[in-house]
Amino acid sequence: MSEVYRFSKTVTDGDGTMRGLLGGKGAGLAEMCRMGVPVPPGFTISTRCCISYLDEGGQLPEDVRADVMEKMKWLEAELGKSLSGDGPPLLLSVRSGARVSMPGMMDTILNLGLNDRTVAKLAEQSGNERFAYDSFRRFIQMYSNVVLGLSHSDFERILEDVREDEGVDLDSQISLDGLKRIVEEYKDLVLEETDQAFPEDPYDQLWGAINAVFESWNNDRAILYRKINNIDHKWGTAVNVQSMVFGNMGDSSGTGVCFSRDPSTGEPGPYGEYLRNAQGEDVVAGIRTPFKIDDPNDPESMAACWPEVYQQLLDTLGVLEKHFGDMQDTEFTVENGRLFLLQTRNGKRTSRASLRIAIDLYKEGLIDKHDAVRKVEPDSMSQLLASEFDQDAKQKLLDSGRLLGRGLNAGPGAATGVVTLSAEKAVELQEEGIPVILVREETSPEDIAGMHVSSGILTQRGGMTSHAAVVARGMGKPCVVGCTTMVVHTAEAAIQFGKRTIREGAFISIDGTTGEILEGKIPTTASPLIQQLSAGTVEPGSEGEQFALLMSWVDEIAKIKVRTNADAPADAKIARLLGAVGIGLCRTEHMFFGEDRIQHVRKMILAADESTRNEALAALQPFQENDFYELFKEMNGMPVTIRLLDPPLHEFLPHGDSLIEGLAHSMGITSTAVRHRVKDLEEANPMLGHRGCRLGISHPSIYRMQVAAIVGAVVRARAEGIDAQAEIMVPLVGAQAELDKVKASIQPVVREADLDLPIGTMIEIPRAALTADEIAESADFFSFGTNDLTQCGMGLSRDDSGSFLPLYIDAGIYARDPFKSIDQKGIGKLVSMAADMGRKTRPGIKLGVCGEHGGDPDSIRFFYKVGLDYVSCSPYRVPIAKLAAARASL
Ligand code: ADP
Ligand code: MG
Ligand code: MG
Repeated sequence: MSEVYRFSKTVTDGDGTMRGLLGGKGAGLAEMCRMGVPVPPGFTISTRCCISYLDEGGQLPEDVRADVMEKMKWLEAELGKSLSGDGPPLLLSVRSGARVSMPGMMDTILNLGLNDRTVAKLAEQSGNERFAYDSFRRFIQMYSNVVLGLSHSDFERILEDVREDEGVDLDSQISLDGLKRIVEEYKDLVLEETDQAFPEDPYDQLWGAINAVFESWNNDRAILYRKINNIDHKWGTAVNVQSMVFGNMGDSSGTGVCFSRDPSTGEPGPYGEYLRNAQGEDVVAGIRTPFKIDDPNDPESMAACWPEVYQQLLDTLGVLEKHFGDMQDTEFTVENGRLFLLQTRNGKRTSRASLRIAIDLYKEGLIDKHDAVRKVEPDSMSQLLASEFDQDAKQKLLDSGRLLGRGLNAGPGAATGVVTLSAEKAVELQEEGIPVILVREETSPEDIAGMHVSSGILTQRGGMTSHAAVVARGMGKPCVVGCTTMVVHTAEAAIQFGKRTIREGAFISIDGTTGEILEGKIPTTASPLIQQLSAGTVEPGSEGEQFALLMSWVDEIAKIKVRTNADAPADAKIARLLGAVGIGLCRTEHMFFGEDRIQHVRKMILAADESTRNEALAALQPFQENDFYELFKEMNGMPVTIRLLDPPLHEFLPHGDSLIEGLAHSMGITSTAVRHRVKDLEEANPMLGHRGCRLGISHPSIYRMQVAAIVGAVVRARAEGIDAQAEIMVPLVGAQAELDKVKASIQPVVREADLDLPIGTMIEIPRAALTADEIAESADFFSFGTNDLTQCGMGLSRDDSGSFLPLYIDAGIYARDPFKSIDQKGIGKLVSMAADMGRKTRPGIKLGVCGEHGGDPDSIRFFYKVGLDYVSCSPYRVPIAKLAAARASL
């Protein structure tokens, strides 16, 4: 089998599917030839040869050498030219090309084959001596740099001297004599630097170039790039040897790059730049300013200067798009009015463009719904929903050195506001209409109200699943966490970054998409998509319409449903707008923090006797009932899973003297008594302490009150014709008997109202996963709480692992942060085992996920494979999860 693949109008051995063997560029060239697109002929030496070359210590295998010689003969015959220059000279480009585009590898060499003899022939044959020497000087410079390893700058200096002597600005203005002088000086330079003359023999040049491409696979830059991007070192690069076409032959020649659609907006039509009388990378090198391909106002545009070639380019882009079913990023050259394509690939694009292009391609009949869904990366959705900074204003701040620091980009979006160090202050300022960035060492449930009114949240400690991160994402707030270079000085009412101190009340801006923290104010705008969806006015052709269409296809395809984690009607509303089909997790404790009820909560906790406790609970019940009612109203007809109280009680207790005294006063006890009680409740390890169903067992009245509130809300809603679908979820269960005990206490409350509500459990304690067969006997459904399951299953504290986990990931001990993407091997096994056992005991048991992993595309793929019914994630991740769910099902 030959490892050298020809491509031309008449013979093409490879095709577009062979990216692995031919590299992306080679496969693209072959496919274009097959399609009849004009491409200069040539051949591709396969990636396998690269590996053999490297394995054999930098030797091209003999049979490959012979094969290349044979294909050279073929190429010469095809074109009626010769590399050795015995006939009209054949010049070549030698181009690297791996399976995926990889910066860091060898630069392309153009005009290979030139020497004193062939340059004269080229001049004679083309009748353009200037062009011939322009090509020659380009070739020597590129070859010397890329193959011989000489630095560009010495060559540039020679070029500069000649420009200066001739009094011209541009290389294209240098005279023929000047070019000849450059060639001679270049050759002298090579001799001086390498002690060897520049290689004259075109075949020596060719082997040198081919070897250099293979060598470049293992240069430091390339190795580093592969490491960062997880690219296999065994892939190797192909070498493309291709006949030259010349853009530097005069004013009806040129070179350019062109996308078939605008890569930043997705707008149809060509988008690119070109230069006349230029070659290779001149367009991107920035020496001359290129002109637009298509600009009605520019007489220099390609459309204006070369209307016919322009039309031909348009037609070709159309053909390519149709064939590849995607927006194309192309490189082309025009030689004396003739168009040649030199490269095509699916173009990179912004999130916004990716949505528009997928929809447009479908509407144009180029792709089907499945393809469209495949074309939009789930994560790109979060950019469509995030608020944005005015880029110029942000850049200005960056340029003036006002970057204060960086943290983890925990909640996407842009926010500007005054530094505020407490939740209470945040609420006050917001009431005055002042935008706030809440800055805390870390947040706790006590801060919820303050977080809610803030424009953004910044913390010193904590990782991607810290309280601040989880809650902020749930609220769709920009959030930066774990900025360890920041110190919060609460007493001095200031925060500090190194030597810089920012007082409370001063403006800062945080970019939750990048993790940057800047000093000063930057104008922000809400995501246009959210604005359109909330306004309910989806105009034809708008992003809102594109989004709705894509989501309707997603709904047809996805086999795993997406619910949302929400405990406030406003969040539920957004989630529904974004396509959630239920609430998978309503955290009731968040409802305890409202100003109107926290007092009752505290009394309930501090109560010394049952009757005081019951009084407090009775006062709380209407609040809870109303909250649930509002949620049912919002989610009409969709399931709402309500988790009974989960966190340790002391999280609700007052800290700070004034709060304690106020509470003591209203309860008619001494503040010392309150302090004692607070102390009693303190735990060394609260996350593994008195929380979840353990509270339900030691204080059954709390869960009974909550269930009574649920029942009351269901009855009230249904009486009004609202289809309330409540599911009661018991947290932190580790044993069937635990769940049974809780059920025995709450079920009568449900039955009394003549209702039949499903009662299920979280699976978040490893023991629950291991005994899921038993637990399923008592549970109507499982919801995998993968945050705690990961924390307990891996013995990794969610709040403290930030100090060493990055190290673990760098060292490859764990491939990824297990709190971001589920550890499929370990924790994933607990999930799949428990799911199987659960289904065995109770066929058809409903299975869901409510951890942060419910919004992570890779985790969703895994949950789909395990066969779960739904995932639940924060409202703003719903579209991401839905898209990921559909893509998993394809
Ligand atoms: P990269 O991978 O960096 O884009 P390429 O191999 O595509 O490198 O080459 C860069 C540029 O060199 C091309 O865009 C084109 O302008 C020029 N080039 C490459 N091959 C040829 C050729 N056969 N004829 C004319 N120009 C070429
Ligand atoms: Mg290229
Ligand atoms: Mg939990």
